[in-house]
Amino acid sequence: MGERLAGKRAIVTAAGQGIGLAIAKMFAAEGATVIATDINQDTLDTAAASSDNIETRILDVLDSDAVNSAAQDVGAVDILANVAGFVHHGSILDCDEEAWDFSFDLNIKSMHRVTRAFLPAMLENGGGSIINLSSGASSLKGAPNRYAYGTTKAAVIGLTKAIAIDFIRQGVRCNAICPGTILSPSLEQRIAELGKEVGGVDKAMEMFVERQPMGRLGTVDEIASVATYLASDDSAFTTGAAIPVDGGWTL
Ligand code: NAD
Repeated sequence: MGERLAGKRAIVTAAGQGIGLAIAKMFAAEGATVIATDINQDTLDTAAASSDNIETRILDVLDSDAVNSAAQDVGAVDILANVAGFVHHGSILDCDEEAWDFSFDLNIKSMHRVTRAFLPAMLENGGGSIINLSSGASSLKGAPNRYAYGTTKAAVIGLTKAIAIDFIRQGVRCNAICPGTILSPSLEQRIAELGKEVGGVDKAMEMFVERQPMGRLGTVDEIASVATYLASDDSAFTTGAAIPVDGGWTL
């Protein structure tokens, strides 16, 4: 494909499927050596089979000990993509403390945990690029029934800017991507669930498409392209940005 990431080492969380997998594959196609991590060995095996540049490692981003030992084993990376995240469906009235804590643990504390573990070696190595998956449903936009999700994804933007400013003179850049509705395995699952309520998968798909001003869903590769740009030196003057890639959803 290209050489935009030649000579760089990258680690990607939740790289077994969806956006994380697309990012791992595009990084590898652009010449990076990629450590694709996830909790699902089967999907990781498929990822590894897709490119000689991809190695895999089981990594549960909820597990601090596992994250710290991964950082010890892997050492310095030039690119860290924090992709893991989960959609809680419902309003504040559907969100008890357990649901709240789980969303915060997986969607934001994991980024704290992983970045804190990998950043020291990145700094010693002269810097790098950190890319965090936020969402249009965040501080950019309220979306119905995305109470816990939107709150955590707003926090991702705050975390991104805080890291960006603290390490701006040390060669570390930190940016967030805010996707709109992207066709991924977990979205397909949400469409199937909604289909049961609204009279079929086609109707549910129509409802998801309807909220996208461009009249279509986004693709995982459209997110991976922006992640690749942020990972590469093409974006050397960009840090602390929260970039909507959402077909105009937040217009
Ligand atoms: P997905 O939900 O299809 O896949 C999630 C992956 O995360 C799976 O491979 C799963 O095994 C892995 N995972 C789950 N728990 C984990 C854990 N504890 N540790 C490590 N890995 C774990 O993914 P997606 O829909 O492509 O979403 C990826 C990211 O993009 C998420 O942060 C999501 O919030 C964000 N996002 C997605 C969309 C969308 O429409 N798909 C929109 C905006 C933002």
